[in-house]
Amino acid sequence: MKGGAGDDVAGMSTTPAFAFDNSYARLPARFHARLDPTPVAGPRLIKVNRALAREMGLDPAALESAAGVAVLAGNAVPEGAAPLAAAYAGHQFGHFVPALGDGRAILLGEVVGPDGRRRDIQLKGSGPTPFSRRGDGRAALGPVLREYLVSEAMHALGIPTTRALAAVTTGEEVFRETALPGAIVARVASSHIRVGTFQYFAARGDIEGIRILADHAIARHYPEAATAENPYRAFLEGVVARQAALVAQWLLVGFIHGVMNTDNMSVAGETIDYGPCAFMDAYDPGAVFSSIDHGARYAYGNQPRIAQWNLTRLAETLLPLLAPEEEPALEVAKQALTGFGPAFQQAYIGGLARKIGLAAVQDGDADLAQDFLTLLAEAGADFTLAFRALGDDDALRVLFADPAPLDAWLARWRARLEADPQSPAQRQAMMRGANPAFIPRNHQVEAVIAAAVSRQDFGPFEELLAVLATPYEDQPGAERFQLPPKAEERVLATFCGT
Ligand code: AMP
Ligand code: MG
Repeated sequence: MKGGAGDDVAGMSTTPAFAFDNSYARLPARFHARLDPTPVAGPRLIKVNRALAREMGLDPAALESAAGVAVLAGNAVPEGAAPLAAAYAGHQFGHFVPALGDGRAILLGEVVGPDGRRRDIQLKGSGPTPFSRRGDGRAALGPVLREYLVSEAMHALGIPTTRALAAVTTGEEVFRETALPGAIVARVASSHIRVGTFQYFAARGDIEGIRILADHAIARHYPEAATAENPYRAFLEGVVARQAALVAQWLLVGFIHGVMNTDNMSVAGETIDYGPCAFMDAYDPGAVFSSIDHGARYAYGNQPRIAQWNLTRLAETLLPLLAPEEEPALEVAKQALTGFGPAFQQAYIGGLARKIGLAAVQDGDADLAQDFLTLLAEAGADFTLAFRALGDDDALRVLFADPAPLDAWLARWRARLEADPQSPAQRQAMMRGANPAFIPRNHQVEAVIAAAVSRQDFGPFEELLAVLATPYEDQPGAERFQLPPKAEERVLATFCGT
């Protein structure tokens, strides 16, 4: 195609082609509000995620063209889109809110890529919707860059997550505590069905709505459940298993979601809604960064417990589908929820074992790994650096003011390695693949945002994004991105910025 799909012969750009197939828009009208994004004054491209665009069967050059940027900014609605704001409810910090919904995001539609995967394309920051309360439906540049960086870092770390397809600035200001540059992120997800979406229908006594939603979620995310003896039980078990594995993966890289409200939990098992999220530097099971998490409800080490709490809320909505009578339905729900603990433990302990170089988990390994974590907590050692340095005693010892307890642990560890079947080379490869060198450290993310907001300099964003794309590889020249913050660089609180 001459000049790429985005440009016609005269060099004028035409709207990029999306092969939309909008299954969520085809659900009954009470599932959503149909509306277009609100145009912005001066859209400018920050970035198109070319690799993701290609995976989705989209032409990156067309997205980068003026017509593509118009779509990404919400100024043009492409052919075949069915823009909508989804209805959902949710428990926010434990308090139920029966009507939340997409208040600053609009789903453009779904595309099925050449890989056969169906993905939502959603514009976040695209203007008011019937679900916007107080807010303006807009997003500031800082949170947009944060979501782009952290979600792409999570993906590169191998953790299920929504993705960032693109980001644009709007040429408009949004007003938070101060006026800030506005921006929009094009978010890609397997779907945007949340625990809170089920709660929306449950709160209205709309059992038919719950059934339609569950059937839709099963078809999209758990097709094997459709042929199970009890499809809704199989669905619940599937969500439980995926969330257990997801939270284990979060813990293994030091990720703190920050706002694990039920409306921020995807039934597809992807990390979603990056707000005041953070990666911890020094290991601390009680770590909290979110400025709004006063009760430390969503602290690092609380995340498994909260996931289970959220899944219990999901199970409650499914009760009418699980069995015709209440008592047996409760029994089915309880049994499905008991799957969380073992699934989490298996993923977490297995992951910790890989981080310390053990291929096969034996009795005592969980304690061995836990004792290392306790040493890190006592020393305030950097979580990421410590695991990456394991095996290089000199590099590891400098992280500890008093290396004596570490040396004692290292002796136990080496004794245990004797009984592990892997060769040293195999072990090293496994450990490097389990212990990233690079994570999106808060102080670096903040520096990227500061450069973009105060100087319109997106160079640091590009640089950090590139480093985070291969987090398990040593990257000569990028060593400074491995460094924890100096005292004066430490980020003590993160904000959702909405
Ligand atoms: P979140 O903090 O992203 O989980 O959002 C919680 C709820 O607040 C959701 O219903 C959002 O759509 C809504 N919300 C967040 N920010 C805004 C905003 N700037 N304008 C309107 N609604 C918003
Ligand atoms: Mg949310």
